[in-house]
Order: sequence, then structure tokens, then C-alpha cells
Amino acid sequence: MLGPALSLIHTGQAPTRSALTRALDVTRATAGAVTAELEALGLITVDSRPAGGGRGRPSHRLAVNPDGPVVIAGQIHVDGLSVALAGLGGLLDPPVQRPLPAATDPVRMLRAVAQAGAELARASDRRCLGAALALPNPVTEPDGTALAALHFAWPSGTPVADLYDVEVGRADHGPRALDPLPTSIANDANLGALAEYRHGAGRGARHLLLVTSGHRGVGGALVIDGRLHTGSAGLALEVGHLTVDPLGRPCQCGNRGCLNAETDPDALFAAAGLTPDPDRPLLDQARELCRAAATDERARAAVEHVIDRLGLGLAGVANILNPDRVVLSGLHLDLLEAAPERLRAVVAERCLWGRSGRVPIVGAELAHSALVGAAELAWRPYLADPQSVAV
Ligand SMILES: [Zn+2]
Repeated sequence: MLGPALSLIHTGQAPTRSALTRALDVTRATAGAVTAELEALGLITVDSRPAGGGRGRPSHRLAVNPDGPVVIAGQIHVDGLSVALAGLGGLLDPPVQRPLPAATDPVRMLRAVAQAGAELARASDRRCLGAALALPNPVTEPDGTALAALHFAWPSGTPVADLYDVEVGRADHGPRALDPLPTSIANDANLGALAEYRHGAGRGARHLLLVTSGHRGVGGALVIDGRLHTGSAGLALEVGHLTVDPLGRPCQCGNRGCLNAETDPDALFAAAGLTPDPDRPLLDQARELCRAAATDERARAAVEHVIDRLGLGLAGVANILNPDRVVLSGLHLDLLEAAPERLRAVVAERCLWGRSGRVPIVGAELAHSALVGAAELAWRPYLADPQSVAV
């Protein structure tokens, strides 16, 4: 009962004790005992003051404890490292961004992100309970190796989960952190989908498909009834290598015209016949190009070119998976905003479900979904067993 109750409060589905009582289908006395225990564990606050004006029965508003424990959420991407502390409730402190270390071998990069996270934990007066990391390449389950880490030229099969655990274990997280600090690691698109499902544009969906182009390449993920569908070995939903143009641009995988190569920031610049500034983050520049489509003919044509290919890919995936919501993030969110009707029309044209009943295609809501998702991963054992925070 404690775990389901904390999950409901964590995801904003039980803002009051009466809502929690209904959601858990228990008596008021049971809900009262559960919330009292979660409060005693320091995880939530229970505010029994009247909501306003002093009238009516106290509503017992429930919230995650703003001074409660935190976890470290980290992300490695092509443009750098990001780390943030995160409490329950999907609440992320402002992320710290760092450039990639000069040497991008896995140990150096994992050490850099582990140490950046440890600095945040040392500087905080909140207790740190875990650390999790989002990576831009597929991560196998359950052994945690990186496959096809093409962006950094890491050897395929690099044991990233073990290496990250060693580097976190070596870092100094200060006196308030659990020691050893539990660690976990997963693919960034999977974590982004989990974050949007729990705290963003995916709330209430049953079969949520997320497609994203964060920095380079394209990722996909599927959440079914609250659980990530990761396939037999953690490698499901590699939508980036779906062919959308057999004669298209070369992909790092050796083929041509993959969604990866046709709908990421590089592809947008190529379609516009422009070269991005190598000294600025590529995603920021690609977003500017999307916004320029409102007034600039060349940008407009490039956006439409990329949207048509993205639509082909989305229709292909939707035909197979029949999602009830498609969430787009990264550059794909900007493409959707630049020409929403065109993208929806391309999908509907090719999609069996799109013609008969609409597939809702919406933009992601979270600014840092991979980090919020990494926090979800780190919180997972405590959401399953809230009493384990007491050890
Ligand atoms: Zn490919």
C-alpha cells in the first residue's frame, strides 16, 4: 500500500487524502495511516489546514516533501554532460551543463558525469539516495552494456552500467548520501518517454509512443500501461533505423535514408543547404531554423522536406503499434510546431489508424525529459518500497 500511495502522490494523481482514498479504494483510516507513514519517512507533506477562508472540512493536501531526499540524474549527449538533483514529483533542480571531456572514452566520460553529480550532492543539504544516467545509445538489459554507441565511437558491448557504478562509487557525495550509492543506467529516449508518461504530455495515455531527435540521430520508446516496453534485451523501438528514403542520406549504421539520417538536426541543415556553426549546440541552431520557417522560404522548404520523412516514419511505427498518443520531443517537437497540420496529414495519409480514427500527435511538455526520466529510474526502488529510504 505504501508504494502505490507514494506513486500516486509522486505523479500528481493524489493531491489530497480524499483523492488518495478513492484511488487506492481503501478506508479513510487506512489512507490516513499510509500518509502518516510516508510523512514520517520524510517523503511527503500532509497539510490539514483548510484550503482557504477557514471553512469546510480540512482537505489534507498531499505533496512531495520539498526538503526530502534527492537522487542524481545525469545525461551524456553529443553536445555535453548534464546533471541535476531531483526530488520526488518529477521536480528537477536547474541542470548543470558541462562540455564533454577532451577524451571521450567511456571511462573518462562516465567519470566526468559521476563527479559532476557528486559535486551537486555534496553542496546540497538533502539526503542523496541514488544516481542514474541517460545515454544516447541502446543499453542492453539486464547486463547494462552499450550497443552501437556510434556518436562516441565506444566499443560495442562496453559495460557502461558497471563502469558508471565504479565511478559513482569512487566519487565523494558528502556525509548525507547513501554509501554505496545505488546506480542505474538506460537509454535517453526510453527515459524521456517514462518521464513524459508520468509527468508530462503522456499522462493518461495507455500506449504512448515517443519519438525524439535530441542532438544527433533519432530515438523512440513505447510505454504500455505504465511500463516501458524495452523488448527482450532492452533494444526495442530503435525507430532511428527505419528506412524512410531508400536513396536518402547515409546513416552511421551503413544504410541509407534511415529516420536517423533524414530527420535529425544535421538533416534539416542539409535540406536547407546550410552549414551549422560548429561552435554552437546543433540542436539550438536547428530549432532556430524551424522558427525561421514562418518567414523564410528556404527554411520553410527544408522543414517541409524533413516533416514529410518524419511523417512516413511515424506512420510506419503507428501502423505496427497502434498507440493512443504520439509524443514528439527534441527537434521533432519544433518540426511539429512549425507545421502541425502538414505533419498530421502525412501521418494520416499513410496510417491505417490515422484515417479511421486520429492518432493524437502532441509535443513533449518537459524541458529536460531524459533527466527527469533518469530521476524516475533512480527513484524506482524507493517507489516500489518506500520504507527502504530509512536504511
Ligand atoms: Zn541507420
